[in-house]
Amino acid sequence: MDCSCEKTNDILFEADFADPVWCAVCKENLDLDEFPISNELKQMIGNWTKKYGHWLDWDKELLKIGAVRTEEEFNKEGRLLSIKLQHELPNFTICYKKSYLSSFYT
Ligand SMILES: [Zn+2]
Repeated sequence: MDCSCEKTNDILFEADFADPVWCAVCKENLDLDEFPISNELKQMIGNWTKKYGHWLDWDKELLKIGAVRTEEEFNKEGRLLSIKLQHELPNFTICYKKSYLSSFYT
């Protein structure tokens, strides 16, 4: 993969406003398109990433109603996706890190 330490096999899977794949060593954001994964999974991860932070009202910097639960659901889905990703990338080590956005606002 294309990052500072090059050829990493350790991937951190964490949602953000970018692709949710990071080098676990140098913490650089990676391009999901560079991974040899199925289009189906790529799309699923893309749809999931778009939902990131939907439980927050960014203008008011407040949690929306049911935010903690929404984030939990989001994290559950992320975990499943990380398992699918690991399945499609057996040569990589995928480490899933869940979102803690809600905890910053409560
Ligand atoms: Zn790296």
